[in-house]
Amino acid sequence: MTLEVVRADSPGKAAEMLSTDSGARFVGGGTIVVRNVTSGDVGIRRLVLSDGLGLDQIRVNGGRAKIGAAVTMARIAAHPALSSLAHVAREIGGPAVRAMATVGGNLFAAAPYGDLAVALLALDAEVAVEGARDKETVALEKFLSTRWHYATSIVKSVSFTLPAEGAFRFAKVMRRHPHGASVLSIAALLPLSDGKVKSARVAYGAMAPTAMRAKAVEQALEGATLDEATIAKAAAVAAEGTAPASDPFASDWYRRNVLPVHLARLLKG
Ligand SMILES: Cc1cc2nc3c(=O)[nH]c(=O)nc-3n(C[C@H](O)[C@H](O)[C@H](O)COP(=O)(O)OP(=O)(O)OC[C@H]3O[C@@H](n4cnc5c(N)ncnc54)[C@H](O)[C@@H]3O)c2cc1C
Repeated sequence: MTLEVVRADSPGKAAEMLSTDSGARFVGGGTIVVRNVTSGDVGIRRLVLSDGLGLDQIRVNGGRAKIGAAVTMARIAAHPALSSLAHVAREIGGPAVRAMATVGGNLFAAAPYGDLAVALLALDAEVAVEGARDKETVALEKFLSTRWHYATSIVKSVSFTLPAEGAFRFAKVMRRHPHGASVLSIAALLPLSDGKVKSARVAYGAMAPTAMRAKAVEQALEGATLDEATIAKAAAVAAEGTAPASDPFASDWYRRNVLPVHLARLLKG
């Protein structure tokens, strides 16, 4: 069994290689896909390298951020204009993983991984995608719910509006500190208008196969002051719509039961 390593000179060419060969995989930082190869996934016959595709830029302009799919967690953590995401990026793996793990790869990571995707979902990010024949910009929520559809496309970047100071919160619950996988993660965008929450977005990681929105919690928070009564109301519906898995990090039962506690802590700030 041979493994071919190839380079594409554009995202479109890379997408073409993926769509014409079911054994081809695109490589971001390789922390997942190369591990799959070395652990014996014989379905992978060709690795399409991503260097040189120009997907490694970070642009911040007029309150919007655009992060290229090849940008690593280490670069996000160090970027002065991305301070709202810095602690999310710092909680992903150890230093060696963060130096390689990319934004694009995180969008495809299966639960309990995909912590950055959770934060980006709460921030209502858009994803720019290029296939062999078309280009598209799609809401991350739609991208995550139809991820299989993008298996032969290349993610080029994610874009989102930077949150106002103090409006964005993220918590990752781990059993093995400091670099364990998520028991669960929670990201919340909590904009305030006249002291009341307006258009909250709350997202979970490891509570479903991909990052998911906590719509019942968002509804409980809408138009309310963030006081004890509101937080209790939100915590009471925290597990609605969740479908966590059992894995070596936690059982589905444990995840469901600790979720309201951690949500309440996050909302209390
Ligand atoms: C020890 C260890 C600890 C980890 N800890 C965490 C953690 O705490 N939190 C967490 O979220 N993750 C964690 N991960 C998982 C992983 O490192 C990250 O999710 C990372 O962001 C994946 O990115 P990558 O570039 O390495 O992906 P790759 O391995 O390169 O790719 C993963 C998948 O995404 C596809 N892909 C990658 N980039 C693109 C693109 N631009 N367009 C289309 N498809 C693409 C690949 O084809 C592949 O199918 C950990 C991994 C390891 C090995």
